[in-house]
Amino acid sequence: MIGFIENSGGGSDTPNVERPKGYLVALIDSIFKQGGYLQNEMQLDHRPEQAAMALSVASSLESDQPLLFEAGTGVGKSLAYLVPGIIHSINSERPFIISSHTISLQEQIREKDLKICRNLFTKVPELRRYGAFKTALMVGKGNYCCSTRLGNALKDAQSSKQTEMFKSDERADLVRIASWSATTKNGVIQELSPAPLPDVWDAVNADSSTCSRKNCDPATCFYQRARKQLLSANCVIVNHSLLFSLINAGMQPEGDVRGILLADDFVVLDEAHRIPAIATDHFGTHVSSFAVDRALKRIYNQRTNRGSLRRHGQAWDQDAVTNAIDAAHEFFGYLGDTFLVKKPIQRIHKPDFCDNILTGPLKEVAERLGALVQKSDDERVQDELRDHRRRILGYRDAINGFITFAEEDHVQWLERGGKKGQIITLRSAPLDVAPYLRKHVFQRGTAAILASATLSDGNHMDAFQETVGGQIAEAEIVDSPFNYKENCHIYIASDAPQPEPGQGRLDLDYLANMICWCARHVEGGTLVLFTSHFDLRQVRERTEAFFKKIQRPLFTQGHQMARSEITKQFAAKGNGVLFGTDSFWTGVDIPGPALSQVIIARLPFENPSHPVSEARSEYIRARGGNPFAEMTVPDALVKFRQGIGRLIRRREDRGNIVILDSRILTKPYGARFLEALPVQNYQRFNRENRNSVFA
Ligand code: SF4
Repeated sequence: MIGFIENSGGGSDTPNVERPKGYLVALIDSIFKQGGYLQNEMQLDHRPEQAAMALSVASSLESDQPLLFEAGTGVGKSLAYLVPGIIHSINSERPFIISSHTISLQEQIREKDLKICRNLFTKVPELRRYGAFKTALMVGKGNYCCSTRLGNALKDAQSSKQTEMFKSDERADLVRIASWSATTKNGVIQELSPAPLPDVWDAVNADSSTCSRKNCDPATCFYQRARKQLLSANCVIVNHSLLFSLINAGMQPEGDVRGILLADDFVVLDEAHRIPAIATDHFGTHVSSFAVDRALKRIYNQRTNRGSLRRHGQAWDQDAVTNAIDAAHEFFGYLGDTFLVKKPIQRIHKPDFCDNILTGPLKEVAERLGALVQKSDDERVQDELRDHRRRILGYRDAINGFITFAEEDHVQWLERGGKKGQIITLRSAPLDVAPYLRKHVFQRGTAAILASATLSDGNHMDAFQETVGGQIAEAEIVDSPFNYKENCHIYIASDAPQPEPGQGRLDLDYLANMICWCARHVEGGTLVLFTSHFDLRQVRERTEAFFKKIQRPLFTQGHQMARSEITKQFAAKGNGVLFGTDSFWTGVDIPGPALSQVIIARLPFENPSHPVSEARSEYIRARGGNPFAEMTVPDALVKFRQGIGRLIRRREDRGNIVILDSRILTKPYGARFLEALPVQNYQRFNRENRNSVFA
């Protein structure tokens, strides 16, 4: 499941000696203090907040204790954990894992922060032994090309039975992959452009139970080479999604060995505000009609007369697969027609809510594959059939578990997705991720440091601490060093009509009017954050003619282009208007005047009718709690602070925060949102007085 695609540095050549407790903290102090190495040798600003964080990280690493650390924008938190982490890795000969949510943070760490660390260590004689640290980026095993499977697939494609396995465009793609694999350094899919056809990559990637290593030449295996590098890397970068899928797949160190991902490691999880959602996603079930159909058709597809059993099975084996494909079609079709006609998400409350007509046919397919494995004396064929069998049994168990509610502490629901709504997915998620995170992160006998710019409601981290089960961890907050008082003006619309009780809809005409007015009165770019795609689309329809007329480029999520492209173009224009929901609240980092104003269209309360929110509310209520106060408001506060955090990204940035939801002024919970603002001075405005109030 794991692999590495880069490795740099030559490693320390100085023998390690036992160091006294407090050594790391003292060394970190000499680097980060006023007049320390960072300031004097690297000419970097001394930031007291960064120094405080680096010292806390060092202390956590030395004592192998967990730490939750909120560091406001501009603290420079990456350096505050990288410097102590690398030094500790080399001194203790333990791997240092850095996990992040976004690719942009991974890039920043690799392209900028690690280079600063290396320069610092190289420049300062007392730190020179740390300058040769090795780094690696971990990617999933399925990202690697397997030279053995590629060789076999090429043989199949060139044999007289070539049409059985691959269509002509797939054969051409195989040849292209073969010539690429002869020259590529790392053999990872990200280096192959254009991307390979999915079915072809499935047939040649390294994530297969056929990978036994015993018949392979390690010199030509990209994955084995990467594994070897793994053992010598000091600093391993991974993303949260891969980290949690490896944890969920049981890949943690076994027995009493401490470590979260690798034996004896210690871990920093940056962008940790994403951890509850990602853990919820990974510790649950996810079985789609598309995945089951694809897995079965790779075994045998009657329509195209292709698949593994075309050659390795008899007619009755093929019939069993066709029967399972039909059963899957009927099963998922029934779920869609019965439960997902009126809405795309439907919670399932009770077990045995449908006839289990699919797991029998899947079991039959698995049994036939097992029998064929026994009959075959070709190891390669056996491995291929075992691979199919493992996957089919996985689906059978997951579907069975879903129908019988095998996991009691989970919420279950059905989802309709895909471009035409044709994909039906069975989903489940734990009601409470805290026990999972406690077991897999906080109780692994090693330091786990969760860092982010927003973990608290502005003052307290209790809600996050409880959500992730991190009560045993120290929790610390340092504020942003930026001058919000001078550089950030906050305006709150006092005349915004409140949503109709029970309807939850905003007055879209009012919203459109205010957004046009506010955007026009600011020279630079305006980011408008919505909580619903419906509201976003409606406001776009009402405003696009206006923005065209005043020649302000309008970018809207889900309309013209991919998210990363929208952000790039918005930043380049300098005076654009960007409408976004969801990830735009957290993942936009545009310094300078190109983002001079953030408009919050509505306080970001989660949709209470989503099965996970609904079930968690019931769960809190059942133990006598108040779900609105304990879950809805704290979650919304964190998101609200993230949205506001898009404005000031660098010391010299300045601009406006505009809040178009008057509930912040009138509802009891509004006071908590006002407290979470970066400055307590704000101005009320409305349509009557906006010309005089709005600067
Ligand atoms: S060890 Fe062999 S089968 Fe496994 S990925 Fe490497 S080349 Fe492929």
